Amino acid sequence: MPEKEFYENMYLYIRNLPEDEKTERTEYENRLAKCRQCSSLLNGMCRECGCFVEMRAAVRVRHCPLSRKRW
Ligand code: SF4
Repeated sequence: MPEKEFYENMYLYIRNLPEDEKTERTEYENRLAKCRQCSSLLNGMCRECGCFVEMRAAVRVRHCPLSRKRW
């Protein structure tokens, strides 16, 4: 899948998450700020779990996969 299409699909997935499953906006931004400072982040992907962090962080019940969770 072309990169542009992949990202469009990912943002559509995030937008369409049910509100009760979606991370609150401020918390979402806090999560991503922590990922941006993390050495495990590579090209938007977490090397610990293989997830795109924008997608993982958008789901309220998900957490950072490290044993000492950053979020
Ligand atoms: S989810 Fe955790 S381990 Fe992965 S990039 Fe973010 S802060 Fe780092």
